[in-house]
Amino acid sequence: MRSGIVVPQGLIAHGRGEAFDYLLGEETLPAALAATYAAAAFLLTAKHPVVSVNGNAAALAGREIVNLSSVISAPIEVNLFHRIPKRERLIATYLKGLGAEDVLGVGRSASSTIRGIASSRRRTDPRGIGKADVVLIPLEDGDRAEALSRDGKKVIAIDLNPLSRTSRAASVSIVDNVIRAIPALTDASRRMKKMPRDSLQRSASEFDNQRNLARAIQEMIRYLRGWA
Ligand code: ATP
Repeated sequence: MRSGIVVPQGLIAHGRGEAFDYLLGEETLPAALAATYAAAAFLLTAKHPVVSVNGNAAALAGREIVNLSSVISAPIEVNLFHRIPKRERLIATYLKGLGAEDVLGVGRSASSTIRGIASSRRRTDPRGIGKADVVLIPLEDGDRAEALSRDGKKVIAIDLNPLSRTSRAASVSIVDNVIRAIPALTDASRRMKKMPRDSLQRSASEFDNQRNLARAIQEMIRYLRGWA
């Protein structure tokens, strides 16, 4: 936050996530793993997959995001709640310092728009989210997740809160901490790259997000029962 990557409101969102992480025992549970495999299948069969990054995601898992983007050959696009050009550049420079080749969505390059969002977050890069069919959104808010889905994109969320609008609007919701979820998604993608395309497509189409979210909630309840 002191270096300007994360804004104070971002810390509150981060704290909300950490509270939910306690309810998971700070571990990756089976529902998150199932969602991770489905997410890898969606990303590997996408025509134009994109990893959308905000300040929190960059600060918490910048290096892991850069590794994932290289394994799945998907560009990284910066998308901030408050579009401040200086902060966009700061995050892009930070990610490039961690090895990202290019970072989309900075300044004037964000010239397309997602319908249904009033704020400046509606702006996207036509080379990235603008033409994407699958978008990974670690730590996103509900408005944008819903608008991306309405725009016909498959949305993969990583969100510790299974009740959030983001989790409910996504096609795949990984209920886990980005710190654990992104390396797990990178590993799964690396292994699943060798699988035939039709079997990846089947895994993606058979995934039922609402059912898997219910499973994540059941896993939280089971974990809490162990303490009660
Ligand atoms: P929504 O708008 O989707 O209903 P929200 O208002 O909480 O939810 P934000 O304010 O953008 O949305 O909060 C970001 C989300 O990120 C929260 O749901 C929070 O649980 C989640 N989150 C925070 N830290 C992490 C983390 N380390 N890993 C995964 N998810 C996280």
